[in-house]
Amino acid sequence: MAARRRSVGRPLVHRIPPYVPGKPVEEVRRELGLTDVVKLASNENPLGPSPLAVAAAASSLAAAHIYPEGDAPLLRVALARRWGLDPDGVVVANGADNILTLLCLSLLAPGDEVLTCAPTFPFYERAVLVAGGRLVALPLRQYACDLPSLAARADDRTRLVLLCNPNNPTGAVLPREHWDPFLAALPPHVVVALDEAYAEYAEPGVLPDGIGAVRAGRPVVVVRTFSKAYGLAGLRVGYALARPDLADLLRRVREPFPVGRPAQAAALAALEDTGHLERTLEVTRRGRERLQAGLAELGLRSVPSQANFVLFEAGCDDGWLCRELLREGVIVRPGGPFGLPGHVRVSVGLPEHNERFLAALARVLTSRLAPPPAAAGA
Ligand SMILES: *Cc1c(COP(=O)(O)O)cnc(C)c1O
Repeated sequence: MAARRRSVGRPLVHRIPPYVPGKPVEEVRRELGLTDVVKLASNENPLGPSPLAVAAAASSLAAAHIYPEGDAPLLRVALARRWGLDPDGVVVANGADNILTLLCLSLLAPGDEVLTCAPTFPFYERAVLVAGGRLVALPLRQYACDLPSLAARADDRTRLVLLCNPNNPTGAVLPREHWDPFLAALPPHVVVALDEAYAEYAEPGVLPDGIGAVRAGRPVVVVRTFSKAYGLAGLRVGYALARPDLADLLRRVREPFPVGRPAQAAALAALEDTGHLERTLEVTRRGRERLQAGLAELGLRSVPSQANFVLFEAGCDDGWLCRELLREGVIVRPGGPFGLPGHVRVSVGLPEHNERFLAALARVLTSRLAPPPAAAGA
């Protein structure tokens, strides 16, 4: 039966691993019979969306029978103004994931190579495979992208370098001083995609100036999203900032109407609601510090994070620990599926969520006699 099924579909599609999302709260409630479940597994905004964004989305619904403007002109112009770029260099799409797929579809011919450092955001592999490319992953250095090694590895076959900074799932940032030498060392036919899904959360001055490189005409595509700091993950809006000729390539392969009316309206309002963003960043920075301090008190090492999540060394099997935490009503993400066995990623929540997680973790680690050891690897 399996062999018969395999005869249908392009061979490259069979090589694409199925996506495993964080467990939905509803599913955990149902399966474990728990009423009070906290999800700290998908790096969502614990404050929710900006109320102004919700109102804007709601009032757009009366025009739901009319196609949206495919190129999201109001949002595009607002983003161009925000970042000091030509509006022709801004491409809005159905989430940052969609931007990554468009990049691969527009840049890769079958067999072309894409470089990245892993463990990183698992979707990269899928985007590259769908386009028929080959992803070559070098190891992270100190949990962040290793730019000198990537530059040394880039050759005639390389078309794209995918950088995640801050890196998901580690939260670490690449050394800023590596950025300019990296761009200078890359062959001119290589495009750099700088995925800054978590850039808003980073302390000022720690990230390289990717948008500055775009302004300077370098072959750099900065990828951003409204899903994380702007709290609109459910509406699906992401965007690329790039040289107009590169942006034009993305527009050619994009669907005609990738972002719905409510999503465009909400993103525009969210961008203008700087108060909500400030509150989000404040809650996140405090929560991040609290999680790191709480983990240290439990004797657990965490990776210094510039994002809205913290990766820590569990000191035991990560799958086991996540299952035990699930029984306590706390959903977090095991590192194993990312290629980081023995690690766990926890998203920063509201203060009470962070306390709930730390208390559950303390209970699990102290009440069980012998947690199974971490698997070898990474
Ligand atoms: C969440 C995330 C994205 C996806 O963002 P969407 O806009 O929701 O598609 C992209 N890159 C990284 C590294 C992420 O963690």
